[in-house]
Amino acid sequence: MARETRHTVCPYDCPDSCGITAEVDGDRILSFGPRADHPYTRGFLCPRGQDWPNRMQGPLRLRSPLLKDGSGWKSIGWREAIERTVEGLDRAVFRHGHRSVLYYSYAGNILKGNEAQELFPALLGGGTIAKGSLCGSEGLSGLEATDPSGPRPRPESVLESRGILLWGRNPAVTNVHFMPLLDRARKRGAFIGTVEVRTTPTTVFSDRAWIIRPGSDLALALYLCGRAIRRNGLPEGTCSGEAFSVLAFAVDRKRVLEETGLDGKGLDELETFVLETRPLSIWMGWGPQRARTGASLASVLDSLGILTGNRGIPGGGVVFNAEVEGLLPEGVFDVPGANPRTVSRNGMGKALLEADPPVEAAFIVRGNPVSQCGDAGSIRRFLENCPFSVCLDYRMSLTARCCSLVLPVSLPLERGGDFVSSYWHDIVQETSPVTEPPAGVRHELDVLTEVAAGLGLPDRFHPAFEAIGRHIRSLEWLEPLAPGMWRAHPKPAQGGPFRFPHCLDEPARPDASLRLVTVHARGYTNGQDLRQAGPPEVLPDAAFSPDDAKRLDLREGQAVTLVNTRGTFAARVRLDSGMAPGTVVVEQAAEGLNVLVSPETTPRGHSCINETWVDVVS
Ligand code: SF4
Repeated sequence: MARETRHTVCPYDCPDSCGITAEVDGDRILSFGPRADHPYTRGFLCPRGQDWPNRMQGPLRLRSPLLKDGSGWKSIGWREAIERTVEGLDRAVFRHGHRSVLYYSYAGNILKGNEAQELFPALLGGGTIAKGSLCGSEGLSGLEATDPSGPRPRPESVLESRGILLWGRNPAVTNVHFMPLLDRARKRGAFIGTVEVRTTPTTVFSDRAWIIRPGSDLALALYLCGRAIRRNGLPEGTCSGEAFSVLAFAVDRKRVLEETGLDGKGLDELETFVLETRPLSIWMGWGPQRARTGASLASVLDSLGILTGNRGIPGGGVVFNAEVEGLLPEGVFDVPGANPRTVSRNGMGKALLEADPPVEAAFIVRGNPVSQCGDAGSIRRFLENCPFSVCLDYRMSLTARCCSLVLPVSLPLERGGDFVSSYWHDIVQETSPVTEPPAGVRHELDVLTEVAAGLGLPDRFHPAFEAIGRHIRSLEWLEPLAPGMWRAHPKPAQGGPFRFPHCLDEPARPDASLRLVTVHARGYTNGQDLRQAGPPEVLPDAAFSPDDAKRLDLREGQAVTLVNTRGTFAARVRLDSGMAPGTVVVEQAAEGLNVLVSPETTPRGHSCINETWVDVVS
């Protein structure tokens, strides 16, 4: 076959949404790297992106349907696999109605075409589906409450900033293409400060880092707002400023020093930086908003932006997620009469175990809830006791291991005609297949269609998938930049005045001695850790501050067990002198970690993953 160059996009749930260029010869990938004409991500792919060829063609790829057989697995043909899936779903619907089927999908990737697959439970009648976010919706709620259509700086605006404040954001690991821009901004004179709960590659890169205790940043942000109000007053034409002032003035210096663990000099330096640097752009991270107070924190940081005169000025403003809206057509996903039962995603294990009518079939597509949701032990128990459970995946994930049947499906880089936008930059890209899926592997949408046909349901999936593509290609506010690449120029939304928060959510109360913070890793995103499919590894690291290690009599390398009312997790002690005390840090997706994680949700139904506490047993 002839050598061909193909452009596609990395669709991981990652803000960068990198363009990729691959050279292929048939199914052989000759080269695989960054797309050179992508305005933001040219230059390099992160280790997660570089690993795509290994995921597609490496030894851990599933290549035939697997049926649980005692404590092992046996390979079966596709015809039997589809028949078993249809039978399993049909039996549950016959016994208890459509709500007896759980349809679960979440965060395997951010392809727009995923929406087509979400038609499956609706066509079934609604089914049981999970609602609520494990990721960024809580912070977005906070910004929507204060300034829904407010000006949000684009990434390159930092080149006009004199100050850049990264608030719990770690772009050196989770938004790596921001780093070259930050570097250029610094060369143009910007000062980069970071508020964090531990030393990270980003705090090392920054000009100044303020390490605070986890959970104390709402008080810190309120204190800074109070100082800004005293200095600048309230801006004209805003709402609820007086009520917000009461909240902000309630946090005095003594309280903020106690809660954050900062010393007076450090707090003064932060205050001077925030109040006296203009333009200042504030970039909030994802970790701090995975808490009951996450939306409140976003609202207060947004307030800090306007109180310091940075809203809407070049190089200033407050950013969290910057989604490109309006890419999905309307009406295509409507199914009249669909009436699902919803369970809270983060706490769904207990809800599924107690559901009435019972859930007797689980259909999991692009999801790894045993690795990602809170109280994962309950989800595992639910799946292991569910009369029928099937997982569509490309490798044996923690969730797949708990199911009765695993169907090997294609990866996003094996399918074309889909689209990815970014929640950091404004580029929209179309996918094209780098290679065909390996023999024995089928496309997700085709599997769904065949199962639906077995249940007597129509193929609305492929028409919906095509409709998404037609809609996106027709949008006049997408400016073509190159083949399969557009820049979004959506019309600004009409909005009202800035609304300061007039009440704040209460944080969760600790129920053990150390806060467990789960952090992103360099090698994978969310539940995509390929190691889950491999042999068991050495104990994962749990990082402790030296103060806590001394108090708890822990030494480097020691095996310990983290424990709370939900379960236990074995780990190895790593001492980290850059951490605030009162915290233990473990990389997310470590096998068994989410057994400990809180299943609680915020008042808006999103996860409070970072409000989990544990004790340590040596
Ligand atoms: S994971 Fe993110 S940074 Fe890495 S290649 Fe994919 S989109 Fe780019």
